Amino acid sequence: MAKPLIVITGASSGIGAATARLLSAQGHPLLLLARRVDRLEALGLPDALCRKVDITDRAAVAAAVEEAEARYGPVDALVNNAGVMLLGRIADQDPDEWDRMFDVNVKGLLGGVRAVLPGMIGRERGTIVNIGSVAGRKTFPNHTAYVGTKFAVHAMSENLREEVAPHGVRVTVIGPGAVETELLSHTTDDGIKAGYEEWKKENAALAPEVVAQAVLYAYGQPQEVCIREIVLAGTRQQ
Ligand code: NDP
Repeated sequence: MAKPLIVITGASSGIGAATARLLSAQGHPLLLLARRVDRLEALGLPDALCRKVDITDRAAVAAAVEEAEARYGPVDALVNNAGVMLLGRIADQDPDEWDRMFDVNVKGLLGGVRAVLPGMIGRERGTIVNIGSVAGRKTFPNHTAYVGTKFAVHAMSENLREEVAPHGVRVTVIGPGAVETELLSHTTDDGIKAGYEEWKKENAALAPEVVAQAVLYAYGQPQEVCIREIVLAGTRQQ
């Protein structure tokens, strides 16, 4: 039987790209969203609709989901992965960076949920996997605004799970520790960036494929089983 459609946001690099490769290898058609559509297309995955969408544009997200469903049938899972991490000290960080993180990591994630949830509720099945962080469970130096977004992701995931459980829809939040991706590259404070780069080495960052396996584990359970939360990090991470 044909596998159902899965939507992955932020699939142009890191964890999202690794998850796209893994779920495609399982035979799922995919809707891949990010701003760098060339990077989505370069993955070269079969049955993968690639759309240049800024996750903060709720109408564009909804339109892409509609287009993908017309092609591949209903969305069975959403991997809400798009995110930005702009480390900084609140005393001197540009507040526009706070806005960007909350817009993408929190409101963008809700926009993804809104685009697929009414259909899932109507069908009484579906899975939403939100990518949170260990920084959504504990704090780190220079992470104040970022941990705000990721604590929000963990809290919203649990509340959403309670909201949709009676409709047979599952919500999982996955909280990775340090993962070797492009995430740090967008931080504008060079001193903080260099310090975190060192910290990542000492704390044995994971490969993105490890997180992709966690997504597959949660999604691959029978629909009657909801993995609520997975928190994973390199063994040597503090
Ligand atoms: P990357 O920077 O490699 O990937 C981030 C992805 O998000 C890219 O595909 C990027 O695509 C996309 N993205 C960013 N902004 C937008 C936007 N406005 N609209 C659409 N897509 C956007 O980092 P990771 O793979 O590490 O990050 C993935 C998730 O994992 C994030 O939510 C992050 O917070 C989380 N995470 C990462 C950890 C790590 O140590 N790396 C640890 C814990 C959690 P594009 O730029 O093409 O739009």
